[in-house]
Order: sequence, then structure tokens, then C-alpha cells
Amino acid sequence: MKLLDGKATAEAIKKDLALEVSAIKSKGGKVPHLAAILIGNDGASETYVGSKVKTCHEIGFDSTLLRFDPSISESELLHQIREINRNPEIDGLIVQSPIPSHIAFSKVTETIDPAKDVDGFNPVNSGRMMQNLPAFVAATPKGIVSLLEHYKIETSGKHCVVIGRSNIVGMPMSILMARNSWPGNCTVTICHSKTVNLEKYTLSADIIIAALGKPGFLKASAVADGAVVVDVGITRIADPSRKSGFRLQGDVDFEQVAPKCSYITPVPGGVGPMTIIGLLQNTLLASKRSFQFANSN
Ligand code: NAP
Repeated sequence: MKLLDGKATAEAIKKDLALEVSAIKSKGGKVPHLAAILIGNDGASETYVGSKVKTCHEIGFDSTLLRFDPSISESELLHQIREINRNPEIDGLIVQSPIPSHIAFSKVTETIDPAKDVDGFNPVNSGRMMQNLPAFVAATPKGIVSLLEHYKIETSGKHCVVIGRSNIVGMPMSILMARNSWPGNCTVTICHSKTVNLEKYTLSADIIIAALGKPGFLKASAVADGAVVVDVGITRIADPSRKSGFRLQGDVDFEQVAPKCSYITPVPGGVGPMTIIGLLQNTLLASKRSFQFANSN
């Protein structure tokens, strides 16, 4: 079994990004600038946004963190997003989820200018990605593809089972794995909460991507020998023995599953750091105005 080490891979890609930013700076070009909106002070969201901002600084990007009270109205939030859409200094915008239940996430994603939508959640970007057109690909699936690429994982002709069908992970992931490219060219099965006898599918999978948010869900009995397993799940489990009071657990029963795998991602240190890389790569693309969108806001 070999680890798909997202932390080490992300560090290597960060060095390349930092070199590119310093070359841009030395030529007097536009320094990539990411804006992040954080609503409320949920501990996990604070950590994720904090890591994104910290990594921006490490590689030389500019960043702006905008904090709003959870009582912010939907119309005020959409107004703030439109202001950022019009701000030529800011290249990319993300709104950290979860957001308060009185605000429709779909309205938020649709209001972000597709040209600044570095999370790739606007339907313009997800639709373009589906049609294999230039687009911002959602950061987590993009990071997973980079990880498979880094480890030269053979995907063509393989059976890939994606567990989870969310718009931000499972669905775009399944499309990327089915695309006519490498990594890709898989035969993909998408499983979800209504799937009956899920093991029937996972046991015939060469590659399993677990993105359901149920800690320890994927057991060894559901995994074939030699499978490649990518664990997207990150759930905080209370752990009084830790200073933080919690530990992170993935969707895979790592101890039991790892010995059966050819490759597997750890949690933490697998998909998480690669998600941040996907976001920063998208921000760099946005700053270079890489894609032309006919219907930008
Ligand atoms: P989500 O929106 O809650 O979607 C979960 C998906 O899993 C749904 O499609 C759901 O099916 C499916 N599901 C739930 N229970 C299931 C079961 N028992 N069997 C099969 N499928 C089941 O979650 P998400 O946003 O995609 O995130 C998934 C996990 O990834 C979470 O732990 C999240 O924290 C983590 N995540 C990690 C990163 C990272 O950077 N590492 C980034 C994003 C998300 P239905 O559609 O039928 O409800």
C-alpha cells in the first residue's frame, strides 16, 4: 500500500505557484487576489478559510477576508457579492459554506461572476466543465485529479465508484473521471443515499472516491484487493485527549481498508491540502483572465 500524500504533493505545487507569482511581480504584472466571505464563526469554517488565506500569503497572493454576521440578509449578501464582482482588484471570490439557512446557496453561486467563481460552483462553470470547455473546476475534484496525476494513477478503462452526488464534490468528480482525458476515461458509477446494496458496486471498483460525510463508512469488506481509495470526508469527532478537543475522521475506515489498497489518501493530509491547491490554481487562472465568459455579470 502506498499513501497518496496530499500534503507533500500540495507543498511541491505551492513552490511552483510561488515561483510563478514572483515572476509575475518582477514583470510588474497583476498579483492574484482572492476574496473570501465568511458568515458567522463556525469553528470548522474558520479553520478552512484561515488555511486558504494563510496559503495565499505563503505563495505571494493578495487576499481579503470579509466577515459577516449570521443575521445578514440574503439581499445584502448578494449586494456585497455584486460589489466584489465589480471590483477590478479582486480576481477570485469564494463564499465559505455552510451559510445560514435563510440564504439560498444557489442564489449565492449564481450571483458570483463566473469569471471570478474560483470555487467553480456557478452553473456556468459546472456546465462548461461538463462540456469539456475551459472553466473553473470545483476545487476539491480538481485537487483530486491533480493528486491522481501526480502519482501517475492509471485510470483509463477502470471502474470508478464515486460515493456522494453533491454539486461541489461527488457530481463534478464523477464527470471528471468519465471525461475523455487522463486522469479520466473511467466507467463511473455514482452511489448515493438511495443506492441499494452499495457493496455490489464498490467491490467491483478499481477506484473508489468516498465523499459522503459519514465517518468510517467504507469498510474493508466493501473494497477489492488493490483498489485505489480516495477519502474526501472530513468530520470533526470530539476527542478530549487532543488540545483542540477534536480529531478529523474521513469516510473510510483507514486502519482496516488501507492494507487492501494499492493507494489510499490519509485524513488529514490527503484531499484537504489538494483542495486548497485547486482553489489557488483557479485564482491564478482568474487573475490571468484565462477564460472568456459571454454572460459575465
Ligand atoms: P453533502 O452535500 O452532504 O453530500 C453527501 C452525499 O453523500 C449526498 O449525495 C448523499 O446522498 C450521499 N450519502 C449520504 N449518506 C450516504 C450513504 N449512507 N450511502 C451513500 N451515499 C450517501 O456533502 P459534500 O459537501 O459532498 O461533502 C462530503 C464530505 O466531504 C463531507 O465530509 C465534507 O466535509 C467533505 N469535504 C471535504 C473537502 C476537503 O477539502 N477534504 C471538501 C469538501 C467536502 P443523497 O444525495 O441521496 O442525499
